[in-house]
Amino acid sequence: MMRLRSRLRRVGSHIPVPMLHIPVPTPASLSHKPARRPWLGVLWLCGCALVIALTTNAYADKGEKAHLELIEQMPLYEDQTLSEYIRRVGQRLARVSDMPDVNYRFSIINSPDINAFAAPGGWIYVNRGLLAYLETEDQLAAVLGHEIGHVALKHHGRRKSRATTSKVAATVMAILTGSGDVARAVDLYGAEWVSGFGRETELEADEAGARYLARAGYDPYAMVEVIQILKDQEIFSKKVANAAPTYHGVFSTHPKNDKRLHGIIEQAYAQMSNEGVEPVGSFLESIDGLAWGNPAADGIVKDSRYYHGNMGFVVDFPKGWEVKDSPVRVLAHPRAKANVTFIAMIGQGVEEEMTPREFIEDQLNIELADEGVALEPDGFPALVATAANPGASEVLLVGVVLKDATGFAFRAETREAADVEGLREKLQAVVASFRRMQASDLQEATTTRVKVVEARPGDTYSSLGRASTLDRFPEEQLRLLNGDFPHGEPRAGDLIKTVQ
Ligand SMILES: [Zn+2]
Repeated sequence: MMRLRSRLRRVGSHIPVPMLHIPVPTPASLSHKPARRPWLGVLWLCGCALVIALTTNAYADKGEKAHLELIEQMPLYEDQTLSEYIRRVGQRLARVSDMPDVNYRFSIINSPDINAFAAPGGWIYVNRGLLAYLETEDQLAAVLGHEIGHVALKHHGRRKSRATTSKVAATVMAILTGSGDVARAVDLYGAEWVSGFGRETELEADEAGARYLARAGYDPYAMVEVIQILKDQEIFSKKVANAAPTYHGVFSTHPKNDKRLHGIIEQAYAQMSNEGVEPVGSFLESIDGLAWGNPAADGIVKDSRYYHGNMGFVVDFPKGWEVKDSPVRVLAHPRAKANVTFIAMIGQGVEEEMTPREFIEDQLNIELADEGVALEPDGFPALVATAANPGASEVLLVGVVLKDATGFAFRAETREAADVEGLREKLQAVVASFRRMQASDLQEATTTRVKVVEARPGDTYSSLGRASTLDRFPEEQLRLLNGDFPHGEPRAGDLIKTVQ
């Protein structure tokens, strides 16, 4: 932060002022968790996360409110066909559950983390990050069945009656109201929940899930397959990242070879109907084209629009300009005029409550020559004004938007007198375009997707990995995605997932 400040003081310099992406302000309660890379985001599917202090009979009403609050923090993944597919699989299980009259609702969260969870009142959430690693409708049903099990066995209520710790309640509140990193929030949810619920309750949910699978015509063994998928993730994370074992308590809670778990599966088989049941659809077809990873997390440019997922904003630079993102700043300039005219943007933590003008003068240390133009993009206080000292430039314009605890500063300069008024208008338009990121933006900013292809003779995960857009451990990633970790290879004719 010090380095950043001192560089900012070089007002008038023609070198675009490099500024660091500031860290997202994080509630203290979340800050002890290291940030995770998407491919390390292993969470047990019963990170069954939402622990909300509600009484059982109030679940239905308050569940909806919690749902609305949740999706404000964790946008849903918008794919009608996939959502409908998941809903139909979920309803098939819900109908044969211990509480078929609950109004179960199924949502996909637009997060690359591998997780699923249930909230009181029948709200079931699956992250798209988990969907990418599943291969069959039975496995999807296993995930949903486990979560329905938590709802149908009233685990949320039991949790409450055991006296929800104030720590958990406080954490949930912090997540629902705070501006913390979504992935980390889910992470924490999971940890608290798993440690709070413990093995007995998770086994109960597995047992219920296995029964529902059998009654609905799915293979109860898919429960074990899902656990294997998560186990492989754990091994991979440890191997490639030399990471400490994921803390979620996942595999102490869900050992694949757990005798009781296998006993549960055996019992479930006894309940299977002899009639074959047609699957709802093709799982692999349904996830073909699923968004992969979180490319917009640390900022991404598409056309002249800049998206920042973690900081949750979108801003439009002038049409036709070149926009480049780097770890220190975003730089936009007209094509072929890189050294003549530019707008640079950085983010910086706001130390105390202040107006945009105070931010420019006191924190950026830039003296202003005019009153400037006050703006209010998406409700945020903003200002575009002229600096008193343009240095060697014809003009130095400064724009600021204050969002939460961050000041977004725009610095526009030109060496051509003829460009001054045009640049002023452009900077005002850029600042005015600043807004919160919406679910549809997340969708637009996603360029990398899961693609289902037929393996050809000679294809290996090594060759497919090289042809994919995966930049880290592509071979291992593809094995994980296709259930072939650690040593399997595709067979010609198999439908396999790759990432493009
Ligand atoms: Zn669970």
